[in-house]
Amino acid sequence: MPRLLSRIAILGFVASFAACSTVGTPRVKNTSKSFNTVVLDAGHGGKDSGAYRRYGPPEKMVALDVAQRLNRKLRESQVKTVMTRDSDVFIPLNDRVAIENAQKNAVFVSIHFNDSRRRGVRGFETYYHSGASFDLANSIQAKLMSIPNSRNGGVHTANFRVLRLATCPAVLVECGYLSNRNDGSQARDSEYRELLADRIAEAIVEQRFGSGVYRASTQVATQSQQQQPDTLH
Ligand SMILES: [Zn+2]
Repeated sequence: MPRLLSRIAILGFVASFAACSTVGTPRVKNTSKSFNTVVLDAGHGGKDSGAYRRYGPPEKMVALDVAQRLNRKLRESQVKTVMTRDSDVFIPLNDRVAIENAQKNAVFVSIHFNDSRRRGVRGFETYYHSGASFDLANSIQAKLMSIPNSRNGGVHTANFRVLRLATCPAVLVECGYLSNRNDGSQARDSEYRELLADRIAEAIVEQRFGSGVYRASTQVATQSQQQQPDTLH
């Protein structure tokens, strides 16, 4: 019996060790073409302002604004969304990860703006961690690059916690440098933030439903609005 007990103990130890070893690198479910929910994460918030410049709003405000616009556009395209924050509140990174991983069939998109001591640095960058996230990262970066005069900072891997601990495809978009005169002034322009949200929404919707679908759904929405007065009269 003692021998059996020690054997059970060893088996238990091996099992718990195996379970621990998966904590650092969670298994990622590749839902990049089948997802029904988009978890939107506006970077920073509350006491954490993110990148901050004397002129114009801090990163936490412009990131939230882009995420809210993106939220509206995705919902108009019949995509379910969950936001990690919808106001100026501080959400710890682990809480963001919990919200992200609570969704069974999702992708995660985090919105940020960048900062550099080198004022000349500008452009879009998109980050990912798991291989399952690469297509979405690439697609978002490509759509952002269709904005005139944009600069390509590239698609890169990164160890950011919200990416590393995600069990679904997860990307983090840096929508330009607040420290750069050109990118910073654009970020302060609400029409430009609408354009950013539009391009990111297009990438997400096309990733799920195929190319051309995003524009089509927008036209459908416009047509149905135009038809409403006729049905009323
Ligand atoms: Zn940030």
